[in-house]
Amino acid sequence: MQFSLDDRTCALSVGEFAAFTLGPRAAGLGGPSGVWRAQLGQEWHGRLRARTEAETSARGEGRTRADAAFEVPLTLGCVHRGWTFTLGGRIDQIITVFSLPRAEDEPRRPGVSVTLREIKTIAGPLPADERALRGDFPEYFLQAITYLALLRMAPANTAGPAAGGGGSAHAPRAGSGDAPPVPLDFGLAAPGDLRAELIFVELGTGITQVVGLTADDEALFRAQLERLVEFLDLRLQSRERLRRLRFRPAFAVLRPGQETIQAELCAAIADSGYRIPESKEARRSSGIHPASGFQSPVSPILFEAPTGYGKTGVLLEFALNRLRAGQFSRLLYLTGKSTGQLQVMRTLAAMTAPPSGEAREPGVEGRTAEPSAGDPRPSSGDRVATPVAAWQVRPKAEHCVNQTFHCVREACSYLADMELRWPQSGLARFYLRDDQPRDLETLRAAGREAHICPYEIMRASLPFNDVWIGDYNYIFAPDSRGVFYDRPGFKPAETLLIIDEAHNLPARVADAYSHVVRSDGAEAVLTELRHGHVPAALLLEWERWGRWLAGLPQTGQLDPSDEADLRDAVDRLATLVATTPLDYAALDPRVSEQLWQMLALRDWLAGDFSLPAGAGAQAAGPESPVSTLLWCPRATELHFTCLDASALIGRTLRAFGGAILTSATLHPPEVFAAACGLDDLGLAMPDAGKLGGQPSAPPLSGIRDPKSKIEPALGKLSRRARKTLRELTSGAALLEAAEARDASRPRLLQARAPWREHAYRVGIDVRVDTTFQHRSRHYAATAATVEALHAAARPAVGGGAPSEETGVERRSTPTSTDLRPASGAVAVFFPSYAYAESIIAALKSVGSPLRAALQPRAADLATQAAWVEESLVQADALLLVLGSSFAESIDLLGGRVSHAMVVGPALPEVNVIQRQRLAELEGAGFSRTAAFRRVYQIPGMQKVNQALGRLVRAPGQQACVLLHCRRFAEDSYASLLASEYQNGVVISSDEDLAVWLRGAEPAPS
Ligand code: SF4
Repeated sequence: MQFSLDDRTCALSVGEFAAFTLGPRAAGLGGPSGVWRAQLGQEWHGRLRARTEAETSARGEGRTRADAAFEVPLTLGCVHRGWTFTLGGRIDQIITVFSLPRAEDEPRRPGVSVTLREIKTIAGPLPADERALRGDFPEYFLQAITYLALLRMAPANTAGPAAGGGGSAHAPRAGSGDAPPVPLDFGLAAPGDLRAELIFVELGTGITQVVGLTADDEALFRAQLERLVEFLDLRLQSRERLRRLRFRPAFAVLRPGQETIQAELCAAIADSGYRIPESKEARRSSGIHPASGFQSPVSPILFEAPTGYGKTGVLLEFALNRLRAGQFSRLLYLTGKSTGQLQVMRTLAAMTAPPSGEAREPGVEGRTAEPSAGDPRPSSGDRVATPVAAWQVRPKAEHCVNQTFHCVREACSYLADMELRWPQSGLARFYLRDDQPRDLETLRAAGREAHICPYEIMRASLPFNDVWIGDYNYIFAPDSRGVFYDRPGFKPAETLLIIDEAHNLPARVADAYSHVVRSDGAEAVLTELRHGHVPAALLLEWERWGRWLAGLPQTGQLDPSDEADLRDAVDRLATLVATTPLDYAALDPRVSEQLWQMLALRDWLAGDFSLPAGAGAQAAGPESPVSTLLWCPRATELHFTCLDASALIGRTLRAFGGAILTSATLHPPEVFAAACGLDDLGLAMPDAGKLGGQPSAPPLSGIRDPKSKIEPALGKLSRRARKTLRELTSGAALLEAAEARDASRPRLLQARAPWREHAYRVGIDVRVDTTFQHRSRHYAATAATVEALHAAARPAVGGGAPSEETGVERRSTPTSTDLRPASGAVAVFFPSYAYAESIIAALKSVGSPLRAALQPRAADLATQAAWVEESLVQADALLLVLGSSFAESIDLLGGRVSHAMVVGPALPEVNVIQRQRLAELEGAGFSRTAAFRRVYQIPGMQKVNQALGRLVRAPGQQACVLLHCRRFAEDSYASLLASEYQNGVVISSDEDLAVWLRGAEPAPS
């Protein structure tokens, strides 16, 4: 849907128009959907077309003639309540029947009757009661009615044949540029001569059922126009609300390093948009698909800001300013962890809630809660309402109020017929009233009361919110992105996207495109299918599938013959699942999931990773392969692994009007850009002098890592580069392409936090080797070092400033956050639980009195926070795992531990996936060393930087950090440490350690 609030125009497809709703959308019948099902639908369309052609030619006798047109594209308009609508679509069939006058009759025009036909495939069964069909598929009826109503309203058809030259309407004939257009001025004698039919086709059998539409049905079309007008009027109100938005700066007193950041962000975003090159070859060579005609790609901004910088507040301030200025109509703030999302909600609330007594902005209703900005507890932020309409989207299961989490309407009465209950439910208050609390408990209570699924209330309300906060999945995961992309009025090109903790994005997206199937899971499905009396064909095919999985050996890569068998099996099963009507309500939800998964697997095997419209699909060129691997880590367990989703990430990001990827650890930026599919265009570094950013490396190009010391192969061009150059046929095109490439490079912005520069005292303990092969020899030394570290530790002194992300730093008196007790405990970070457990065993074996607390597994947020608080008081050493949420999400350690230790870099596990990634990089021209750096060293050291960053979160805080492994002294690892940790002293003996722990410098060896 494209609309202009200024011009009061709205253009959309008839399908979008029919599916539009202000409330929750009527649920489907629980069957599968997607590309593959659409292909089956095409098949039935083709057969019905052949049947109609035969029928019309058979009627060409006597005084009757018939003509048929198929897939007729048309665009028609109408005006309603001051809005001009343009609707486009394709009518499946138009059948025109002429009754010719007899020779003895007065000369007159032949009688004409026209029938529009829309064909819809459904999982069945047919024939069905017409009322049931109307209830189950209201969108299909509305679609056919819309064509009928629009054609009746077309000038050529309103006055009938007597109007003579009353204008003519034509639609281009489908698929034939030179063919004469199909006339839409049908020469009707009466409006009733234009009819519409809906033809339902049962997907598996081809059984059809025809439902005729009547004039009464046209009332539905007018009601739908009313809904659309209400939506557009609300969007207008929303824009006005944004224009009047008032908010506090994120920081009343700026921290050192923040002084120029707003100007730097403004400059970077202004610099990031660019004009689409006019010539096709320049568009192609600059990475834009030649067919992309309307979408202006932007260059994402990589914003690296250290922990404690206050980037959440800084970015929200920037985004609210841009929203108010009208540069963007919506902000999406995505993080991978719920702690981060809660932090955004709290900061937003703190920036926008009026203090008690402050006059409210006209039109902005009561926002009364004053947030406790420094309160880290997740529950406190939930209940804060904010004047900027913001919604934190939680996982669906957290909304559930049904007895079982089974989202098919036959199994959930909160879903069944909810669209009928919606108009009287009063739930529109969730998007109409600014003062309506939107926390999860309020939502669930409202859902229970109105007997409507709370998740659907959220979905219905989302389009009217200006800020959407949630997980990466809502944009990047094929299973979840519909939550955002299907919301009416969501336009990526007008949206600012902020990705927080962006260093996690590449791995998360690759996971979202990966699947696992197991033999025992298939067995469970088979048992259910047997009880469910499903058709024999599906049962037999699933039995074969289970047997095939049960015979799979452990293997690093499926051999070609097994892969061929897999493709055949998945193909057959996908066909059967899509065409077999099943009682999904009776099936266990996990069973349904496995059945529907066959369609996703079929697309995966076919390399179909297509993005939805608006998600960068327009920019999708024929290149951009997604590398994948089929392997069995264990017998009977098959993994469909996406090794690298960078192409998909890059295309998605570039569809947004603005995109900022932020993290404390984007280093090295070239490698991060490559992992996000932004490497083709190199990386643009800001002029440090101009922007006040941290001086950084000169502009780089390509995917080359500056520290990997790989020299480019001079004189050699890649196949892609050769192809590109062949397509550039003129100097002007070459220049245009170069300008476009330059303008669309990702921008790197590195924030300064000078107060961190001397906050760490670092020792590099080269006495031990923590590599997997040698670590056990050093368990005793590691255990003794933990004891020594604790002995040297003293209760840390809090920094007297709020934690980094709370924003709105305006207090002169300490808050509860500042006053949390400092601890004498030390933090020890390990690459794995197993390693930490070995050190606990080593401590016990020597009778150590040290109280070591190992972080709990699979704990929720509240449990994690409680464990940290308790352990800081009761334990001597907190044993934490690098890369876990304790090391990356929990921000309770800042300023509260004086000493910490990192037991080796947390290199990823050596397995088939990493080996395959290594092989692919080497195949792409990387040296073994450079490939190892990308696959192992960079992710491993990123976890170290993440963990250490959280120990100092505010000016005045300090920490002593011992990097406990000889590898930290090697240049290839040391160069990947953040700059604050790079000047460590080398500790090569027990005496050195003792000296360093006393606060002195060991003598150089
Ligand atoms: S109430 Fe629960 S089961 Fe029902 S639709 Fe909502 S989330 Fe699904």
